[in-house]
Amino acid sequence: MNIRFANVGGRAALVDPDGGWHDLERLTGGDLAADPTTAVRSGTDALATAAGLLGSSTADGSFRDARIGPPVPEPRSCFAIGLNYGSHAAESGMDVPTVPVVFTKFPSCLVGPTDDVSLASTAADYEVELVVVVGRTARNVPAERAWDHVLGLTVGQDVSDRALQFAAQPAHFDLGKSRDTYGPIGPVVVSPDLFDDPDDLELWCEVNDERRQHDRTSSLLVDVPHLVAYLSSILTLHPGDLIFTGTPDGVGAATLRFLEPGDRVTSYIEGIGTMHNTCVA
Ligand code: ZN
Repeated sequence: MNIRFANVGGRAALVDPDGGWHDLERLTGGDLAADPTTAVRSGTDALATAAGLLGSSTADGSFRDARIGPPVPEPRSCFAIGLNYGSHAAESGMDVPTVPVVFTKFPSCLVGPTDDVSLASTAADYEVELVVVVGRTARNVPAERAWDHVLGLTVGQDVSDRALQFAAQPAHFDLGKSRDTYGPIGPVVVSPDLFDDPDDLELWCEVNDERRQHDRTSSLLVDVPHLVAYLSSILTLHPGDLIFTGTPDGVGAATLRFLEPGDRVTSYIEGIGTMHNTCVA
């Protein structure tokens, strides 16, 4: 597959192994769309074919210096999983779920990997998460074949307004995790074949250079294949759909250290890259 998909200046792009970006519409002679969401919805096979053209293409620029947007700005569905690391369930005082706790981050919250997060309350919290991007229509897909339906993986921040989350009883997730700008994703979507083991990736989150979260995705209680299997047993997953897979321990709610204007949130996942988001009032 060899796919590194990104949004450069609002246009779909592929990134080559040397760090150059290539405009997808130009690369494919117009076969694939310039719009990132439309391009992702063309699916894994079309993007893998496009990636095969990189060897004979000259890069349009350095990805490092590019203006990078959210790789999938408008997914049809954006799922998120709660309490999917035992350490985070424990710090939250919650039992480990017996079935996945699934909620929605409404896609309007999505922003890019260097965009500002506009704080809407004094209880905004960070949650670094591995995000799955679906690459093939998936319905009743068994876990053994689930990775075939994944276009790639990216980094996400499930920024959470704890005050809004717990304002209702029982607590509700969707709105508190969907405020505008509360869903940074990026910088690039990396296909599963480009990892030594896509089920075991280091991830961490720093606030103002202080390490707050640090774990590996092998600690996920329900791993990526079983999340795809579970969700696709209930509804159809479409190319471009996102799944935020949950966060490890170290969130601000556990220590009552919430995000403040001026805070710099850095989110990293091995083999994918780093997001830098600044909090603003
Ligand atoms: Zn989360």
